[in-house]
Amino acid sequence: MSYQRPKGTNDLLPGVSEKWQFVEETARLIFRDYQYQEIRTPIFEHYEVISRSVGDTTDIVSKEMYDFYDKGDRHVTLRPEGTAPIVRSFVENKLFGPEFSKPYKTYYMGPMFRYERPQAGRLRQFHQIGAEAFGSENPAVDVESMAMALDFFNQLGIKQIKLVINSLGDKETRATYRQALIDYLEPKMAELSDDSKRRLHENPLRVLDSKDKKDKAIVTEAPSILDYLSDASKEHFETVKTMLTDLNIPYEIDSNMVRGLDYYTNTIFEIMSEAPGMGAQSTICAGGRYDGLVEELGGPSTPGFGFALGIERVLITMDAENVEVPVINEIDAYIVGLGTETNIESLKLVQAIRNFGFSADRDFMNRKAKAQFKTAGKLNAKLVLTLGENELSEGIVNVKSMENRNEKAFPLTDIYEKFDEVYDEMTANTPV
Ligand code: ATP
Ligand code: MG
Repeated sequence: MSYQRPKGTNDLLPGVSEKWQFVEETARLIFRDYQYQEIRTPIFEHYEVISRSVGDTTDIVSKEMYDFYDKGDRHVTLRPEGTAPIVRSFVENKLFGPEFSKPYKTYYMGPMFRYERPQAGRLRQFHQIGAEAFGSENPAVDVESMAMALDFFNQLGIKQIKLVINSLGDKETRATYRQALIDYLEPKMAELSDDSKRRLHENPLRVLDSKDKKDKAIVTEAPSILDYLSDASKEHFETVKTMLTDLNIPYEIDSNMVRGLDYYTNTIFEIMSEAPGMGAQSTICAGGRYDGLVEELGGPSTPGFGFALGIERVLITMDAENVEVPVINEIDAYIVGLGTETNIESLKLVQAIRNFGFSADRDFMNRKAKAQFKTAGKLNAKLVLTLGENELSEGIVNVKSMENRNEKAFPLTDIYEKFDEVYDEMTANTPV
């Protein structure tokens, strides 16, 4: 019998997990700079939270949900994305209240689940980092948020990216555009994919988001939503463009871009990687404004703007651009213990050194001196402490600095009482 991980999931092993930590730590630093604070929501939610906000006709809800009935017959689902849970939490915990600053800026990171056809950059358990800002209609929030996402990629060393924006307008815009789109698509109905045929009257904007080749060709000629923007939406979009220009942020407009979630209004954006070999999974970050979502989930009318980025795709992009992740491969001290009699003393030594706040390790396998020194070298130990049976009986330990080759025997009590001083003495660039 051999067990394998479920299809579309990954084990992140050392060598790779360092890269994840680097990405996550970089994100946390950026969020600090922009004053976003973390919310952690449960991995599963009531089905309704997702279906109501993401939309019943979306691929996510209609095909990709990991939903089930629990033992109490509650319909729950693993979360497929982060915004709906955050909005649910925002409403449930009344984060719109007067005691909280506005806009309320929050971020999250963690696993998301979608039943998709797995391929490079498309998994069933994948990981997102996302940010949301609640309570301001100011287009400066849209632009700050996009700038923050770009800043994050810049900090990671990712260079070959482009920002693509569009506007989906407000309610008024959507009503007039919906009819124009139906009028355009109806005569071509026979050529559309089955999914798109079904969605044409239910939710025609979904047809624009179809991944079907023939659908894609048909929608290239579709009327542009930008020609239908209400005066308010037009002004919002114009201001967003002006602000991007003022910040010297280059962008493209794609009037066919609608995104895979129903809750967006006005500004939407994607950040795409232009690195070679990214294939169809080149969108590494996506988001936009969702001014009706808080109300949809039972809260007071509250505008919102947010985005999510896929960590797996970010790492593929970093590989494609040959970005090196800094790894710390260094340890302050390594104990070489020779002979089984030194076992207990080695344990006491390594713990004492750690209690002084230094990193340290030792041999546990009773290996020969040569093998232990080799390990110390591989770990780039700054100090190697050697304890043989003779040293043990004399109550001393031999300390060697691997950087300046200083070597000196110390009483064991020095290590226990003042290892910090021993460390400074041995690593200083003066002979001992
Ligand atoms: P796509 O069009 O590629 O399916 P999407 O529109 O479904 O993406 P969103 O729901 O907006 O994507 O999610 C935001 C980001 O999360 C994406 O840009 C991508 O980086 C990442 N992402 C989404 N689905 C997956 C997945 N199944 N595996 C890995 N990353 C994903
Ligand atoms: Mg998708």
